[in-house]
Amino acid sequence: MALAIRDAELKGERVGVRCEDGSIAELGAGVDPAPGDEVIDAAGLALIPGLVNGHTHAAMTLFRGYADDLPLMEWLEGHIWPVEKRMSDEDVYWGTRLACLEMIRTGTTSFWDMYWHAHAAARAVEDAGVRAVTAAPLIDDSDPAKSERACSDAERSLDQIAEAGGELARPGFAPHAIYSLSERSLRWVAERAAELEMPIQIHLSETRGEVDGCEREHGMRPAQWLDHCGILGPHTVLAHGVWLDDAELELIAERGATVVTNPVANMKLAVGGIFPYPGARDRGVRMGLGTDGPGSNNSLDLLADAKVFALIQKHLAADPAAVTAGESFRLATGGCSQLLGGGWLKAGQPADLLLVRSGAPELQPGDLVANLIYAASGSVVDTTVVAGRALMRGGVIEGADEVVARADERAHALGLA
Ligand SMILES: [Zn+2]
Repeated sequence: MALAIRDAELKGERVGVRCEDGSIAELGAGVDPAPGDEVIDAAGLALIPGLVNGHTHAAMTLFRGYADDLPLMEWLEGHIWPVEKRMSDEDVYWGTRLACLEMIRTGTTSFWDMYWHAHAAARAVEDAGVRAVTAAPLIDDSDPAKSERACSDAERSLDQIAEAGGELARPGFAPHAIYSLSERSLRWVAERAAELEMPIQIHLSETRGEVDGCEREHGMRPAQWLDHCGILGPHTVLAHGVWLDDAELELIAERGATVVTNPVANMKLAVGGIFPYPGARDRGVRMGLGTDGPGSNNSLDLLADAKVFALIQKHLAADPAAVTAGESFRLATGGCSQLLGGGWLKAGQPADLLLVRSGAPELQPGDLVANLIYAASGSVVDTTVVAGRALMRGGVIEGADEVVARADERAHALGLA
């Protein structure tokens, strides 16, 4: 069945939308529902593209409110990693379902996920109805002897994701970081990803210590090392990029890789720096915005993070004009990188779109985009459509209570709540 939206506000005009086979079939003034369409009456609602969360670890919703306010390594080694060793497919499934629920509520229609039991995450994504690139982290402790095993695990995980996923959950590679992987594994990922035409996501240049370690071991900076290993290309997402210098930004722009900045998680984990956005933009680097995992954010509300992104960049540059609301909105909707797959509001594009309550106090009066970035949060989203399917209407998501209850059960069983 086709989905039709009538009487939505778009740039001061009243428009209609018809979605067929997952795509926008028609959009504009005078587009009316056809007989048999599921119809959404959008009077009082404004139409905007869905948000794209470029980096997260969705199932870490189970860790929300657990072991906050600790130094990074104590948090990871003492609290996160020991629990992750005990997690099952079902834990990851319900943790990811909880994440999808929050994302649907706050307007995220697609996300890039890196987490263990990635096939369970893929199943959750399909059942929730959102889009994601799901990938299992690849780690070999920088030990070439462990590389073969790690790579064959990654290969098997791809098959499992392909089996569990479908139209919405796509497989990818997730080499964890340069400090947790040998050159052998990084080169293997580069080759296999090229052969299979699959995307790669990797953490890069998150902490000062990572940069120092890379220079000490390899005599070059992190982006140069990744390039040396063949990873830096147009199908690669680099999460963080906090400490990238000008030469690295030039190189990343030249290779066409995408940097996803995660300002809230960077500040919560106190990495001590911020992604050099103006320098990246001026060099033509492709970019996106991410929340990072709910263990270190702790929210998945991308509009809230878009405000933090804009503010911290202005503050750092000591220039309120350093980034505009329009740029921040484009970043949050995947519009600054083709790889991230942001939806565009035009016929032929994927039908991933939102209706926001334009009469909400935080959206009145003034410019919609400025209000979305500086005044609103995801709570203004009324309707979330992914691939032409309305996952939330009037703020209501079917089956939400069960997802919250099941995720809560899993967190309790793991001793996290
Ligand atoms: Zn991360």
